[in-house]
Amino acid sequence: MAKKYVYFFGAGAAEGNMRMKDVLGGKGANLAEMAGIGLPVPPGFTISTEVCALYYKNRERIPESVRLEVEKNLKRLEKTVGQAFGDPKSPLLVSVRSGARASMPGMMDTILNLGLNDRTAAALVVKTGNERFVYDSYRRFVQMYGDVVLGLKPVHKDDIDPFEAIIERKKHELGITIDTDLSAADLKDLVARFKAAIRAKTGGEFPDDPKKQLWGAIGAVFGSWMNDRAIAYRKLYDIPEAWGTAVNVQLMVFGNMGGDSGTGVAFTRDAATGENVFYGEYLMNAQGEDVVAGTRTPKPISELRKDDAKACVQLEKIRHTLEKHYTDMMDIEFTIQQGKLYMLQCRVGKRTAFAAIKIAVDMVGEKLISEKEALTRVEPDQLNQLLRPIFDQAQKEAAIKGGRLLAKGLNAGPGAATGRVVFNSVDAEAWGKRGEKVILTRIETSPEDIKGMSAAEGILTARGGMTSHAALVARQMGRVCVAGCGELLIDYAAHTMTVKSRTLKEGDWISIDGTTGQVIEGKVNTKPSEVLQVLIEKTLAAGKAPVYQTFAKVMAWADKFRTLKIRTNADQPDQSKNAVAFGAEGIGLCRTEHMFFGEGKIGPMREMILADTLEQRRAALAKLLPLQRKDFAGIFEVMAGLPVTIRTIDPPLHEFLPHEEKEQREVAAQMGIPYEKVRERVDSLHEFNPMLGFRGCRLGIIYPEITEMQARAIFEAAAATKKKKIPVLPEVMIPLVGHVKELADQEKIVRATAEAVMKEQGVKFNYLVGTMIEIPRGAVTADEIAAVAEFFSFGTNDLTQMTLGVSRDDAARFLIPYVEREIYAKDPFEVIDRDGVGQLMRMAVERGRKTRPGIKLGICGEHGGDPSSVEFCHLIGLNYVSCSPFRVPIARLAAARAAILNAPKPEAAKPAKKAAPKGKKPVRKR
Ligand code: PEP
Ligand code: MG
Repeated sequence: MAKKYVYFFGAGAAEGNMRMKDVLGGKGANLAEMAGIGLPVPPGFTISTEVCALYYKNRERIPESVRLEVEKNLKRLEKTVGQAFGDPKSPLLVSVRSGARASMPGMMDTILNLGLNDRTAAALVVKTGNERFVYDSYRRFVQMYGDVVLGLKPVHKDDIDPFEAIIERKKHELGITIDTDLSAADLKDLVARFKAAIRAKTGGEFPDDPKKQLWGAIGAVFGSWMNDRAIAYRKLYDIPEAWGTAVNVQLMVFGNMGGDSGTGVAFTRDAATGENVFYGEYLMNAQGEDVVAGTRTPKPISELRKDDAKACVQLEKIRHTLEKHYTDMMDIEFTIQQGKLYMLQCRVGKRTAFAAIKIAVDMVGEKLISEKEALTRVEPDQLNQLLRPIFDQAQKEAAIKGGRLLAKGLNAGPGAATGRVVFNSVDAEAWGKRGEKVILTRIETSPEDIKGMSAAEGILTARGGMTSHAALVARQMGRVCVAGCGELLIDYAAHTMTVKSRTLKEGDWISIDGTTGQVIEGKVNTKPSEVLQVLIEKTLAAGKAPVYQTFAKVMAWADKFRTLKIRTNADQPDQSKNAVAFGAEGIGLCRTEHMFFGEGKIGPMREMILADTLEQRRAALAKLLPLQRKDFAGIFEVMAGLPVTIRTIDPPLHEFLPHEEKEQREVAAQMGIPYEKVRERVDSLHEFNPMLGFRGCRLGIIYPEITEMQARAIFEAAAATKKKKIPVLPEVMIPLVGHVKELADQEKIVRATAEAVMKEQGVKFNYLVGTMIEIPRGAVTADEIAAVAEFFSFGTNDLTQMTLGVSRDDAARFLIPYVEREIYAKDPFEVIDRDGVGQLMRMAVERGRKTRPGIKLGICGEHGGDPSSVEFCHLIGLNYVSCSPFRVPIARLAAARAAILNAPKPEAAKPAKKAAPKGKKPVRKR
C-alpha cells in the first residue's frame, strides 16, 4: 500500500490521534484527537510533516503523489461540509496553517479565508446577508496571501506592511480613525487596491482560482519552516530541522460574523500561577488574530456568560473533558460562529515554573496523574525561576510612596526585574552582550523579537493581553513580563516612553514586577525568592510560604525516584551550608586552591612558590597548614559526616603570582626580597600551555611536601572534628592523573600522613583516596588506575578541553559560531558531548568497575548541574553528580526525571489489533 501522507479529521471521526505528533504535528494531532472524542472541530485534513522534507528534497515542490492525496481529501472535505471550492452558491473557505511537532508560536505562516475571489465573495454576501463581513474577510485574505505567499511582507523592522499603509491612506481619505468605521464598499475598494499593489510589486495577478490559492498557501507554509524566525526559534529550543512542519487545511469558521459570533483563547488553569481556574480572553465579533495581536483589548473569559451563556457552559464542560482526557493543563482556541461553538486548537499549555509546579502537585492531589508523571511535567531548569529574586518589599513600597509608580499592566511573567529601558530587540541584544541589564519595552512584541526578549531581564509592553505574544513567550523563557500596560506612550523614533506626563529615555532605569504588573521608575533592589528566604536566609517560615511548600513536595518526590546522589562543589563553610539546605548529600569537589586566595593565605603561598630550598618551602607550608586546617574543619562541621571530596592543589603556580610590575614590587617588599627575584621567578614559571603544564598531581609529585601539608591539614581537621563527636568522611582526590604511577606516588604520601595523624591524635577515622578522571589517558587506562583509586570523579571541564583539543579559556571566539553552525549541537563545556567525551566516560566506568566493582563514581565538572548531562551520568551508571549549590535542586529533579524516563519498560503489552503506523517510534506523551 502506498505511504499515507494526508489525514482527514472531522464529523466525529479522525484518521489520526494525539500520539501522532511526529507525523501530524502538534496542532494536527490534537485536532484529530478532539475530533475523535466528539468535540466540535471544523473538519479538515493534515498534510504530514514528512511531506515537508519531501518538499525540500523536491526543489520546493509538492510531489505529485501527495498532490493527488490532497485533492482526494479536499473532495472529502467538500462532501462533508456540503460546500465546494469556487462554488457560486455555497463556496468553501479554508484556513491553511503550519503545525510542527513542538509548538513554535507565531514563527511560521498562516493563511485564513482562502477560497475567496470576486465570485465567491458575492455568493457569500447572498448566503450570509452580511456584506461588510464578507469584504472584511476578503481584504484580510488578500493581505495575508500577499504578505505570506507573494512576498510583500516587510523585511526590515522599521518598514511597515504595504497593506497597512494602504488602509491608513484610505482611512485618512475618509477622515476616519478606526478600522470598524470602514464600510463594505470601503473594504471592497481596499481589496482592489491591495490587488493593484500586488500587481505593481510582483508583475502578476492575484490568483482567483481557489485551488491555485491553496497550492500557493501550502507551499508558503512549508517554505516558512526555513524562515529566519523559525530557524532562530528552533535553535533556542533545540528543535531539529529534520522534524519539519505539517500543514493543516481546515474549514473556516468565523468569529466576526456579528454580535452572536466571537473568538477566544484560554487555559484550562491559570498559566501564570497554576491556580485551578478557567483563564482566558475573548472578543465578540472578531477573528483570532485580533485576540493575540493585542490591537483590541480582550475581555476576561469570566464575562463570556453575559455575552453567550450557552457557549460558556459548553466551554466549561470542554475544559473538564480536555483536562481529564489529556491529564494536563491545556491551552485552547475557540470560535463561536453565529452561536455555535467550535474548537480550533488545543495543546498542552505553556506555563511559568510557579504554575508548572503547582499544577503538577495539584493534579497528583486530584488523582489525575502519578507522582512520577508530575516530575516529568516540571523542566529542571524551570526551577531557576523559583529561585529568582523578588523585589525588596520595603524599597518597593518606598518607591511607590515616593510617587515612582508609573503604571500597572498585566502580571504576565512573574518575578522582579530591574534594568535600563531599550526600545527594540536589536538594542536589547547588543546591550545585553555588553553586560547591561535591560528591560525590553515595546508597544507589542512579535516573533521577530525573540532574541531581544531572551537577552532582556524583563519585557514590558503597552498592548496585548495575558495571551499576547509577549506574555506567552516571556513565560516560556522564564522572563519577567508586564504586558498590556496601556498608559505607556512609546515613541520608537524618539526612543522615549511617556507616562503620566513623565518621559523616560532609552537607558533610563525602570523596575517591573511581573507578579503584580507594577511598573516603577528607577532601580529597586531585588531580594531572594520565597524558596531562598525559607531555605537560605531563614527569614520566612515554611508554613507561610506556599510556593516553597509545593517546591518542597516536588523535591521530596524527586528524591524518592532518583538513583543518583547529588553533591555540591563548594570550598567554604557557608557555600556548603547553602548546598545542604538545597539538598546536597556531600561535597563532590572542594578546590583547595580557592582557599589560598582567602584572608592571610596568599602571602605564605607566594613564599612557598618563591622558595629556593626545601627548608624555605617547608617553612612557608608550615604557615599554610593551620590556615587550611581551619578551613577544612569548618566544612567538616557543616557537612557532619556527609562525604567531603577535597582535591589537592591543581592550577599552575603562576596563577598565584602577580603579573604586573607594581604588584610584584609590593610582594618583594612584603617578603623582604629584591623585586628582580620576584620577576625572575614569575618569568621562569611562564609556560606556553599552562593548562597542559606544571599543574595538578605534577606539582605534588615534584614537591611532595605540598601534598603532605595538604593531607595533614585535611586529616588533622578530621581528627579535631571527630573529637568534637561530629562524624567526618574525607575523600582525598588527586587531580590530573593520566598514569596510575602518578596516583600511586601521591596515594603513598596521603596514606602515610593519615596513619601518622591518627597515631598522633589518637583517633581513627575513615577516609578514601581517589582521583579525577580528566585526562583522556586516565579514562583509557581506568582499569589500571582503579587498582589504586577508591573513587573516580570525572573532571569534565578538563576532559572536554583535552578530548576536543579546545581550550576552555579561549574557546568562545570560535565555539559560539561552531554551535550556531551546529558543528556541535550545544556548547560542549555546558552539555556533555555524549559522542566524544561521553564515550571516554563510559569506557572509564566500565574499565574502572572491572578492576574494582565497588568503585565510587561521580562527576564534578560544570556539567554536573546540567539536566541533559545529569541524564547521561545516570545512563552510564555514575553514583553521584556534583554541581554548584544553586543548581542542586535542578540536579535533584534532573536525576529523578532521568530515572523515570529511562526506566526499563515493563514487558511489552500484547500488540493492539490496529498496529501503529509503520516506522514510527512510540512517542512519549509530552
Ligand atoms: C574539571 O576539570 O572538570 C574540574 C572540575 O576541575 P577544574 O575545573 O578545577 O579544572
Ligand atoms: Mg580540572
